[in-house]
Parts: sequence; structure tokens; C-alpha cells
Amino acid sequence: MTTTFDKFNLDKDILKAVIDAGFREPSPVQDAAIPLILEGNDIVAQAQTGTGKTAAFGLSTMSMLDTSDRNVQILVITPTRELATQVSDELFSLGKYRHIKTVTIYGGSSYSRQIGLIERGANVVVATPGRMLDLLKNGRLKNFAPKTVILDEADEMLDMGFLDDIESILKFLPKERQTLLFSATMPEPIKRLAKKTLNDPKFVNITPKEHATNEDIEQLYYVIEERERDNALLRLLDALEPVKSVVFCRTKKEVDRVSTQLMAVGYPAKGLHGDMEQNQRETVIKAFRASQIEILVATDVAARGLNVTDISHVFNFHMPFDPESYVHRIGRTGRAGRKGTAITLVNPMEYHSMQRIAKKVGTNIQFKMVPTLNDVQESQLKKMADEIEKAELDVNAQKILDILGDDINLSKISLKLISMLINKNSLQGPNKIGFDQKTLTNLIKRLDERNGRDRNRGGRGRSGGYRGRSRSRSGERSGKSSGNRERRPRSRN
Ligand code: AMP
Repeated sequence: MTTTFDKFNLDKDILKAVIDAGFREPSPVQDAAIPLILEGNDIVAQAQTGTGKTAAFGLSTMSMLDTSDRNVQILVITPTRELATQVSDELFSLGKYRHIKTVTIYGGSSYSRQIGLIERGANVVVATPGRMLDLLKNGRLKNFAPKTVILDEADEMLDMGFLDDIESILKFLPKERQTLLFSATMPEPIKRLAKKTLNDPKFVNITPKEHATNEDIEQLYYVIEERERDNALLRLLDALEPVKSVVFCRTKKEVDRVSTQLMAVGYPAKGLHGDMEQNQRETVIKAFRASQIEILVATDVAARGLNVTDISHVFNFHMPFDPESYVHRIGRTGRAGRKGTAITLVNPMEYHSMQRIAKKVGTNIQFKMVPTLNDVQESQLKKMADEIEKAELDVNAQKILDILGDDINLSKISLKLISMLINKNSLQGPNKIGFDQKTLTNLIKRLDERNGRDRNRGGRGRSGGYRGRSRSRSGERSGKSSGNRERRPRSRN
């Protein structure tokens, strides 16, 4: 069988693995980067996760690898353990017919085991910066001289404060090497790192500047009162019924609270954050990948490098702090050629920051109204009617009819059954959540005018002004807040 990957002159066993992986044609980053890497160039590639960048560097570098050499020839450095594991898994499966040995190195697990695995003849090491530097500094790795070094998700490493570690690691490695730098965004420090440590790199940019985010991702925002945030999330989950989604929160505490709340109302959700033990985090990600969990509630750090291809929706429960983080978060959906939806919840105070992010990212983030309870109910009833029409008859159904006997007529039985179904999926929360476009425009205008006045008076400006209607006059939280919300567990079958 031939594939469009044949044009690259990759190793035949690598091509065999490409066929197994089901890749039909190279992605744009693969088209651009593979030939440059095969020619031996250093490269700086601006590519988001989900674009096939792992295979771009994996297929090319592993094709050139000498399998008779038992020393480490390729080193991949990634910001997180999760990404290290994912990259390692992908390289392992792409390199399987060449019998390429891949070892993953990260903190929190045994030094001696990792060193042992390398010494037994690893060809590829995928490592997080901290542990890699530890091993190098302490002289624990003999003859460690990879000819190819890949810095994956360099901007994430910058955000996590790893750039100095990266520079230190590179000092331990041979000067004569090929270095490949991949990053979703190109902030100044990354450009400086590339200039300092790469040798006459070639540039690959498959994300035009004005379009830093994937075009397969529909980007929406909803403006709500602060107190409506929980209900808005539940309403959108009820309305959109995502196949698989990630809900990004700002803090670990919020992750715990939101995930607990989703579970309490019957959603198959779990939290993921940096305070969790490594094996706990791995279990959650595995369950999410296997669709035992449909909603992953996570902090930015925990979700770095998360590569699950069938995430249909990303929710920003709170707006991210900066455009880079926005791009990174929404890049969890719309992966491997699929479509995705990214949703951001903002309160009126955050409206201008949302616009700034949209401008910086260069994409159109569309305003939407949260569907009303009536709308969602209406569409669920239609769907239910459709399901009833299509349902297969169960052999035991007649038995139940016989038990019910003649005392109760068929139409009454039907109505009772439908009521049971409706109650099982009962929707709750207020009918209307958030703002429509007209109310929002007026509110933003009033806020801006007031903030202008405050500033002129030397007042607190925008951040001190709006309190929404989240508290009643007595200062109590509204009775409709999600804390008081009761909901029957949903059956999700
Ligand atoms: P990455 O950008 O490396 O995180 O890759 C995202 C996903 O795309 C991974 O699950 C890859 O297996 C998949 N992938 C990579 N290259 C291709 C391709 N040419 N065709 C289809 N899927 C691909």
C-alpha cells in the first residue's frame, strides 16, 4: 500500500507504522517540517497541539536513527509528565517496526528504574526538564549524547518557568546536534532561546499570525452575572450535550468544587489538578480517554499537553488570564481534523478583557445567549419523542403490560412511562440566564460611562464598580444560586 507520506523518503518501517496509525495524508506541519528535518536543519516550528507536530518530528527523526547504536540518539523535552507520556506513546507506536526503544523520564518516580531503562539501550528519551537536568547535573547518565534534541511546547515550558533549565540541559549536550523547537506561540523569550541555542534554524509557521487558533474550532462567549456561572455551565452542558469536554478553572479549589457539583447532578465528571498524586492524575486521564469520564474539570497546569482527540467542547468556566493560555486551552478541541467548540463564560466586568483576548488572538469570538430552560426542554422533548419512535421492543415489555392488567388503559400507561423518562432527565435552574445582546450593550455602555466618571474623580475605576446583581440588598446570595440547586441524578445512557 502506498500513502502520500511516500514522497518524504522516510524509512520503510516507519511508513508501515504510519499506515497502522491510519494517517492518510500529512498534516500541514508535517508537510513543511519533515523535509527540512530530513535535510538535517534545525527548525523553529510554530504549531499548536493537535496539528500533528509529534509525528512531524517523530517520523523524520526516527527514520534517521541508527538502530544498531544502543546509545540515546533522540531527546525530547516536554513541559509536563502527561505530555511526556503521550509523546512517548506516539513515538513508541510510530517506531515499533524499527524496534525503537523509548524511555520516559519525569520527576516523582524512581531514578534507578529510569536510569536502568536508559542503560539497557534506549534510542529515544522523552523527559521533563527538572528530572532531565537532575540526571545530567549528577552525572547519572553515561555516554548521554543525543544527536537530535526536540523542545516540545516551548511556550508552555516558558510559562512554567523551565527556560533556564532548558538552557542548562543544552549545555550538557553535544554542540554538534540537530535541535528542533516547537511552540504554539512565539513570545520574545522563546525567540531569544531559539537564536541563542539553534544553529541557523529554518522557520515553519502553519498558523498565520492573524489566525493563531485552529479554524476547526468554533469560538463562542456568553455573558452572565457572576452568580449565574454555575447554572450557565449546567445549562450549556444540558443544551449542547458534549461528547467529551474539558472545563477549565482558575484554581484547584474551583476544580474540586465544580467537579463535585457536576458529579452531584449526575454528570460523569472528574477533576484534574496539580495537587493530585501522579498516579491519580494518570487514572483520571486514562478514564477520560476511555470515555468513562465525559467531563474533565481541570486547571491549566494539569491539562497541559492533554491529547485526547475526541474532545468536542472546551469550556472556560472563567476567562483565562492571557491570550496564550486561551489559545492553549481551546486547542484541546478541534484536534486531528475534527471540529470543536470553545466556550467562554464572562461577566460584564470581564467583557473588555474578553475583547482584548479576541483581538490579540485575532479570531472572531462570537457572542451567544445562554439557551433558556424552556428552549432546552423543548428540544429535549423532541429528541425524546424521536428516541421513543426508534426504540426497539424488549421481550419483557409485554410481561409488564400483562402485570398491569386491564385496570389501566394503554394511553395512561404511555403517559406514565413518558413522565418517568422526563423526570429522569429533569432539567433545572432558572429559565433565563445571562444577557442578550441589547441589554449587554446598554450595560457595558453604562459601566464604561461610570468607570470614566470614577476615573475622573480618582475613583476605583472599572474593577471597583460593578457588583452585578449577585447579592440582594441584605447581602445574602440569591436563593437561585447553584449552591441551593437540587437536581435529580441524570441517567446518561
Ligand atoms: P499532535 O499535534 O502531535 O498533538 O497530534 C494530534 C493528533 O493527531 C494525534 O492523535 C496524532 O496521532 C494525530 N495525527 C498526527 N498526524 C496525523 C495525520 N497526518 N493524519 C491524521 N492524524 C494525525
